[in-house]
Amino acid sequence: MRILLIGPPGAGKGTQAVRLATHLSIQHISTGELFREHIDQGTELGQNAHTHMRAGLLVPDEVTIGVIKERLARPDTERGFLLDGFPRNVAQAQALDGILADAESRLDAVLDLEIPEAEVVRRIAGRRLCRQDRGHIFHVDYSPPEVTGVCDVCGGELYQRDDDRETTVSKRLEVYRSETAPVADHYRAQGLVTTVSALGQAQEVLERALIAISQDQVDASGASSR
Ligand code: AMP
Repeated sequence: MRILLIGPPGAGKGTQAVRLATHLSIQHISTGELFREHIDQGTELGQNAHTHMRAGLLVPDEVTIGVIKERLARPDTERGFLLDGFPRNVAQAQALDGILADAESRLDAVLDLEIPEAEVVRRIAGRRLCRQDRGHIFHVDYSPPEVTGVCDVCGGELYQRDDDRETTVSKRLEVYRSETAPVADHYRAQGLVTTVSALGQAQEVLERALIAISQDQVDASGASSR
């Protein structure tokens, strides 16, 4: 199964992507995470990406598309994948369409996580990640760890992403509105988008997303048998 998870920063894409990919036994691929790995490793690509990330801007398309193309070519994606944070603009969506067409493959579903902007700001400001595994995500108010600053899962230190600080968040939202929101329209025109409310507990959102995916599967099999 090949799924895209889109929506504004702070909608909970990272949290839901980890859970959905585990549930569906498919690879979770996050471009933001691929860039953070490069940054940790001190690669040239990482240093270049970090300059853009710190400013709340998109990493240039030629870099991002190259990274995703290389990742999707690995054999572990054969069973399927869930893309989190890619595509972030229409040019990337068109590039992805091309990569999939070349592989005689296609997307099964696009889930658009929907959330009011005021809630986005609250969520991002309070988000904390584990240094040992950035898939372990907490929130100082909504899902606080038992011990402040310590990951419940593995005991790692919790920290705030440098692009989650308030000054960068407004820029990221601006970029989302102008560049990323049109991606939903691109896929809506292909009849692939289901909107899922990102409000409420992570478990509730997961259940909504799973229902949306299974509904998409029913619709797709109905369409193909018609
Ligand atoms: P994320 O972890 O998805 O919130 O991404 C963090 C940052 O990485 C974004 O604010 C961008 O600077 C960069 N980034 C992630 N994915 C992309 C993408 N598809 N295109 C360009 N920049 C990206």
